[in-house]
Amino acid sequence: MAAYKVADAQGLIKLDAMENPYNWPDDIKTDWLAVLKDCPLNRYPDPEARLLTETIRQLNQLSDQFDVLLGNGSDEIIQLLLMALPATASVLAPAPGFVMYKQLSDCLGLTYLGIPLQAESFDLDLPAMLAAIEQHQPSVVFLAYPNNPTGNLFSETAILDIIKTAKGLVVVDEAYSPFANASFINKLDQYDNLLVMRTVSKLGLAGLRLGYLIGKSAIIEQLNKIRLPYNINSLTQISADFALSNKALFDRQTEKICAERAVVFKELNELDGITAYPSAANFILFRTPKNKASDIFLSIKQQGVLIKNLSGQGGLLIDCLRVTVGKPEENRAFLNALRKSL
Ligand code: PMP
Repeated sequence: MAAYKVADAQGLIKLDAMENPYNWPDDIKTDWLAVLKDCPLNRYPDPEARLLTETIRQLNQLSDQFDVLLGNGSDEIIQLLLMALPATASVLAPAPGFVMYKQLSDCLGLTYLGIPLQAESFDLDLPAMLAAIEQHQPSVVFLAYPNNPTGNLFSETAILDIIKTAKGLVVVDEAYSPFANASFINKLDQYDNLLVMRTVSKLGLAGLRLGYLIGKSAIIEQLNKIRLPYNINSLTQISADFALSNKALFDRQTEKICAERAVVFKELNELDGITAYPSAANFILFRTPKNKASDIFLSIKQQGVLIKNLSGQGGLLIDCLRVTVGKPEENRAFLNALRKSL
């Protein structure tokens, strides 16, 4: 296996990891520090994170039939879900998709099936997905909505067909929901095998490491058996609860990011030889001229901007790079660097 490598971004404009570029205003930071001051660090955290869980329940207007499982990032929730499976189980997701689904499946010795998306539209190949589900009966299907790294929302009817066909669990991974205006949370009550996973990372709290999974209580209860009791530390519990209670701040930041997304998308597509794909997330996938992706990536990096080179992953991602939408001045720096590298 190869470790999941995180690029060193020191001294560079960081547009590689789908972070929110904005920090908090000083007055909010002061209020946050006041809340943190009373945190009893000599004690273990609340193993059930009751306060934070209640805030998340209210935020998503969850009824009593649902429970919430918290994870140290949604990465940990993916790991928990896969650890719950028997060694003979298989896991299915569209390709290209979020690399952790495969990385963690491989690590646990599970069979991983990546079913190619349709070229160019990057929508689900529904017949291929349904055929693979019928044939392999995967214990878990992951569908990122919007998808990373392609940025699009899969067709809702195709996802519903998959949920109805799969006998195993279907996890709709809504990591990028703050930028998408679309969700399967309101479908949870119709399907017992549906779970919705979210994270606060892309919203603007990547440093806290907090993800959560919403589903029917019977499933969450089983997953809780393999969760480490103190997986969400006290500082994260308090800070996330404080931040999510100030959600209007993040909503304003999200609006700015979505407005910039439109500008970057338009400017990318005006460049000769570049094709940018429509995105409902806070990043944009774009295709470069044949066999040029790595040179362009390095040239942009030498000019001080770090993005993500996906070309090496092959398949539909050949010649593709991905840029996170940053602050306007960061996006200008990226576009200028890209222009010079072409
Ligand atoms: N799901 C998707 C689709 C992602 O792109 C990511 C982060 N890149 C994650 C989950 C993991 O997010 P985190 O562990 O920060 O919550």
